[in-house]
Amino acid sequence: KPLVFSGVQPTGNLHLGNYLGAIKRWVDLQDSHDCIYCVVDMHALTVMPDPADLMVSTREVTAAFLAAGIDPKKHIVFNQSRVRQHAELAWVFNCIARMGWLNRMTQFKDKAGKDRENASAGLFVYPSLMAADILVYRATHVPVGEDQKQHLELTRDVAQKFNNDYSDRIASLGVGVEMAVGDETVSGFFPLAEPLIGGPATRIMSLRDGTKKMSKSDPSDLSRINLVDDADTIAKKIRKAKTDPEALPSDVAGLANRPEADNLVGIFAALSGTDRETVIRDFGGRQFSDFKPALADLAVARLSPITDEMRRISADEAYVDAVLKDGGERAGVLAEETMRHVRDIIGFLQD
Ligand code: ATP
Ligand code: MG
Repeated sequence: KPLVFSGVQPTGNLHLGNYLGAIKRWVDLQDSHDCIYCVVDMHALTVMPDPADLMVSTREVTAAFLAAGIDPKKHIVFNQSRVRQHAELAWVFNCIARMGWLNRMTQFKDKAGKDRENASAGLFVYPSLMAADILVYRATHVPVGEDQKQHLELTRDVAQKFNNDYSDRIASLGVGVEMAVGDETVSGFFPLAEPLIGGPATRIMSLRDGTKKMSKSDPSDLSRINLVDDADTIAKKIRKAKTDPEALPSDVAGLANRPEADNLVGIFAALSGTDRETVIRDFGGRQFSDFKPALADLAVARLSPITDEMRRISADEAYVDAVLKDGGERAGVLAEETMRHVRDIIGFLQD
């Protein structure tokens, strides 16, 4: 079975974009793949959250995974910091990745903002840790939103450079595996993990600005639908969502250059498990005053069972912590298996 790895940061305000772009799709992969789903608390540390908030958010994200339908017995759910091998491999990858590669990362530029001198070094090397998260399990598939595409490309570059730089050691230790790269078959230690980015919700935009992605860190709460929002709040946020004055177009081509309309249609499609074509077939030519209430009803119908289940699970802190502990132990075994090879390959002495 192919191996899936993905994560969400416990940075608060889990939102519809996280659900539709990531978590919902993770649920669907469980039948066909072995999956490792991680609450990436070490990534959250790059922006120095308050410790009490970090603990609350870590449990909340875990509860969201479970409420959405991820099975922690069949698969693995844990918080990143429990498995020290992530940090260990991230250091190796800091020595593989080039400054020039990291300098090109748009997420760093966005998050550091104007005061780059004051951004943490951790924020800069975030992509090395993300590469380590994936490759410490030699995962082959990574379901993420569109915003993570560039980091996934860097992960492949890191894997490829490691495989090349150490090709002789990998061959002499006999730890390489054959893999297809384009038309060629090459041998390497780390797989070139493939991003799984698809469907109508790869990039949900802010409800206040159709050119910005919906984000946990947006200061405006009206910009996003939080997974903990109640029905009235969801309806209000959709009612207030920015739109243009035109009716919905009669075909999907008419959504071009209408980012807010495109976003709401995409959200409808993802929530209803269809595509933009189907939504436009049903709502083309209708006003937003018609479409928004239908979208609000759909959002509430889809999200409220998850919200309720999240609340129920969150109330049982001992259960959530036990899931993370068990997942961490199982992940740790897999990660250590990889790291023993990595230490041999790079020439670290070990017993
Ligand atoms: P932060 O602002 O703290 O970075 P975030 O909302 O970007 O928060 P992450 O924890 O960084 O959330 O990302 C978790 C997953 O959610 C990733 O796979 C990411 O691609 C996906 N994701 C985040 N925002 C969106 C969005 N607006 N639309 C679709 N997917 C998204
Ligand atoms: Mg993010």
